[in-house]
Amino acid sequence: MADCIFCKIAAGEIPSTKVYEDETVLAFRDLDPQAPTHVLIIPKEHIASAADITPENSAVVAHIFEVAAKLSVELGLDKGFRIVNNCGEDGMQSVQHLHFHMLGGKKMGWPPY
Ligand code: 5GP
Repeated sequence: MADCIFCKIAAGEIPSTKVYEDETVLAFRDLDPQAPTHVLIIPKEHIASAADITPENSAVVAHIFEVAAKLSVELGLDKGFRIVNNCGEDGMQSVQHLHFHMLGGKKMGWPPY
């Protein structure tokens, strides 16, 4: 999608610090980390948000969670981690391309507000 920053990152048009890449998924370090480890995992295909997941495109979401499990080992998150998806205006989604925040390296707080 022409004006989507994460599509541009997926296409290599904007640089990012990649931690994983395959044909359908990219994971890279967040520009403004909220934990010692803060990675974003995205589908390369443009899906605007979690509200736009359908039977036709949902396989990549399962794959993203497989990638997260693999990354948890590679990034040393053996004590645990948090996966967050912000969806829409109330969810405080700021980039309109589906992404999952993977946060770890410290004990998280709860509730998340
Ligand atoms: P959201 O608020 O939509 O859930 O999360 C968007 C995330 O993308 C934020 O954590 C923000 O720091 C990150 N982000 C925004 N623009 C860029 C960028 O150009 N590069 C990287 N690596 N992260 C970005």
